[in-house]
Amino acid sequence: MTLNQTTRNQNQLIYAGAVITMNDHSEIFAPGYLRIAQDKIIEIGSGRPAPTEAETVQDFGNDVLLPGFINTHHHIASSLLQGIEPKHKMAVGTVRDGSWLKLSVAFDQAQCLAGAALGYAQLLASGITTTTDSQSSWRGLGKLDGSITAAINSGLRVIFTAAFSNKTELVPREYQLSVSESVAELARLRSDYQSQHVIIEPEPLSLPRVTDELIIALHQERNHLMAMHSTYSAEFDAWARKEFGYPAIEHLARLGVLDEKLLLAHPVHYDDAEVQLLAQAAAKTSYCVVSNQHMGLAVPDLSRLQTAGIPVGLGLDHPNGSHDFFETMKTTMLTQRSLKLDQDACSAQRVLEMATIDGANALGMADQIGSLEIGKQADLIVIDRTQPQLQPLGGLIEQLVTGAKANHVKHVAIAGNWQLWDFQPVNMNLAEIIAEANLQQQYLLKTAGLSA
Ligand SMILES: [Zn+2]
Repeated sequence: MTLNQTTRNQNQLIYAGAVITMNDHSEIFAPGYLRIAQDKIIEIGSGRPAPTEAETVQDFGNDVLLPGFINTHHHIASSLLQGIEPKHKMAVGTVRDGSWLKLSVAFDQAQCLAGAALGYAQLLASGITTTTDSQSSWRGLGKLDGSITAAINSGLRVIFTAAFSNKTELVPREYQLSVSESVAELARLRSDYQSQHVIIEPEPLSLPRVTDELIIALHQERNHLMAMHSTYSAEFDAWARKEFGYPAIEHLARLGVLDEKLLLAHPVHYDDAEVQLLAQAAAKTSYCVVSNQHMGLAVPDLSRLQTAGIPVGLGLDHPNGSHDFFETMKTTMLTQRSLKLDQDACSAQRVLEMATIDGANALGMADQIGSLEIGKQADLIVIDRTQPQLQPLGGLIEQLVTGAKANHVKHVAIAGNWQLWDFQPVNMNLAEIIAEANLQQQYLLKTAGLSA
């Protein structure tokens, strides 16, 4: 099937074997259709209505139409190191030194651009249409400029969080920005790069790595959201209780930054009072199961958060944790079931909601994305139903979560523009991206003394 590529001014009528809406009623139209005008969904329903003269028809036969996935936490440029990143315990007092430090310093604008481009190619192929990207600022290295440029080139919808730290050896002191420099850098990045699809927001990296002054200053600069890394380990939790005399979330509340625009990655170690505080503030969370397990971290009981009404989006977090969002969905479901010793603890439908509408809620964007509904952005993925994992035709949702893989994503549209078609990126040159990533990785490893 050739791509009936449309301009923004053309209307599209899409037919699919099943249209999974992810709306409040979990409606599925099989067969179903979707009408798009420019970048928005204007009609959705069952059957195959006749096109108007102004419409371009995309007939996907028996394939499955879904809202695009939403990746709520990631460090995309690190894709340059996928499979080889030095192992390090992410502890409160972790010092970046040795070859890890050499490698991090050499990881500058060009490396971030190459690494993030490689990451974005994988995100798109996995059906992710909206992602966050947390990139730490290092004075003079242009890391954020490289990562944001890759975000713009990708065509994805990106909430880029510029991460700052001023109280840690994880970023050596000479590379840290002061509070006022951090605020100025955020303003510069917004002025240079912000666009309709690439939104730039602040991230005080995490409580052990920033001063209260920096948190408050960045909180004042947030428009859409502020991100932070949260209580991912028992050690982090113990540190907060010792440092402040109370747990981490209470400290954020006392600082006046715990609110509905706060997105906390890794909601792993919260006590009941913290869950209550999060719920009262309508704060949001992002859970990265594969990355957390890769790092040997605990599996939290997500139902504690969800029962309290706290949105939990899914995230990839880290390239060594894989870019396959289907793997993240399935692992989330399986680990919740094992944790609760209950097969009903997390259904396939529930985890598909986490990957779509809950992710949109976590990013404060549920009015625009996360489900296929009239008025929302036409962020769509088409899954190849001919794959044996998606046959026979019963049990579609269970098949999608337990059997489907990233390489079953056939087409992806963002704001009605097809960015992946017949499994191939439309606006990315994959061969060039891979060649550049290899070149930059070789340079990095040589500089860090990790290869000849
Ligand atoms: Zn992270």
